[in-house]
Amino acid sequence: TEVMAGNQERTFIMIKPDGVQRGLVGDIIQRFEKRGYKLVAMKFKQFDEAHLKQHYIDLADKPFYPKLCKFMSSGPVVPMVWEGKDVVKMGRAMLGATNPLQSNPGTIRGDFCIDLGRNICHGSDSVDSANKEIALWFDKTELASWSMCTGDNVYE
Ligand code: ADP
Ligand code: MG
Repeated sequence: TEVMAGNQERTFIMIKPDGVQRGLVGDIIQRFEKRGYKLVAMKFKQFDEAHLKQHYIDLADKPFYPKLCKFMSSGPVVPMVWEGKDVVKMGRAMLGATNPLQSNPGTIRGDFCIDLGRNICHGSDSVDSANKEIALWFDKTELASWSMCTGDNVYE
């Protein structure tokens, strides 16, 4: 079965410095792989504060913005692009609520964290944000074009 055009949605997922430092990189990647999503791009690198300020530009008015950008640039992160049906919405569901107090057990945040400012992982909140974030973190040449060969297994 051919993978349909509707299955080409992409989202931007990023393991934050706390997620890296706590050894959760493999678990988080595995959840997206096992769910059936396709990895399109990935880096392991520390980025400067200016880059994080751009990433979180919509939150520039929030009191926690400076601290957030500083923390996000304090160590290596794992920015990734994942592709598949409804992956933006599903990625958010897999992450769980922003505040770990509200994140359900079974979600990434609900399983691994306690504190709002150390919530392990980022995920785009809309297709529009995803496109902006993917363009900010990756050059077009860094987005891999490849086939999972699982059309029969993942999609009907
Ligand atoms: P999400 O990451 O779920 O999309 P937001 O975009 O609202 O959440 O916020 C970005 C990040 O900023 C959150 O993941 C969290 O780490 C941090 N944050 C959000 N709200 C607060 C807050 N009130 N105090 C401190 N940090 C916050
Ligand atoms: Mg957000």
